[in-house]
Amino acid sequence: MFVADLTFDCYQDTTLDSAEAAINRVVNALRFNGQIIGDEFPTVLKEGYFITRVMCPEQDALHPLNHSPFVKHSIKLLQEAGLLAPKVKIIGQDIHANGADACKAPNSYILYTTYVHTCSPLYCGDDFLPVPLYRIPAIANGDYKALIKWQEDWQACDQIQINGATRCEFAALSEISNLDSDLSRRGLDLTKRIRFLTGKPVYYYLYRVGGEDLATEQARKCPSCGGDWLLPEPWFGLFDFRCDSCELVSNLSWDFQ
Ligand SMILES: [Zn+2]
Ligand SMILES: [Zn+2]
Repeated sequence: MFVADLTFDCYQDTTLDSAEAAINRVVNALRFNGQIIGDEFPTVLKEGYFITRVMCPEQDALHPLNHSPFVKHSIKLLQEAGLLAPKVKIIGQDIHANGADACKAPNSYILYTTYVHTCSPLYCGDDFLPVPLYRIPAIANGDYKALIKWQEDWQACDQIQINGATRCEFAALSEISNLDSDLSRRGLDLTKRIRFLTGKPVYYYLYRVGGEDLATEQARKCPSCGGDWLLPEPWFGLFDFRCDSCELVSNLSWDFQ
């Protein structure tokens, strides 16, 4: 992950409100296109220009070749607010964050996130590195907004169930664990779409916690087809279960690990 500064020069008088709205539009468009990652982008006003700090999955993530139609449109609209197209300056690599997938053609993908992950929710099935979204064909309306929204909701549910301090805990847990929850249904629709666009298997992750005992948990069957799905070794040290016909993965209950 790379830290970058976007500089927006003012070439004519503008108001703070219209400049802010125009910059926000660009930032949102870049975010829904996977070119920048995270949900907080501090913007500072300097003498005649604005600087917005962002995180990118790759050094060349902000190259115009990666722009979605919405990004291009938002950059064009900067003019109306008296701003020029942003200049990109890479500050350097974030020492905390993981790298981006570099595989030319992954053999499969995994849709996976947690509340602590600040990266793409699409992982390479060969080496489990996050895939910059703009590397796969756009999912709908020219970008990946539906996928980013699914990730936001998944992370919010995960945060609520981990904190365990409210009655929402159980509803949130059900959303990320059950095959037939609203969130899983949305996620499975997304995997179906990515499978269609890439022609590769796309696994969907189901969270697992609780259960009676280790033996019962190990005997757990695929919740979709009822088949055996326990792996001899966990896939990437994380997924103890995988059903190749349903393209589902899960972990051994966190209570018995
Ligand atoms: Zn890879
Ligand atoms: Zn199955």
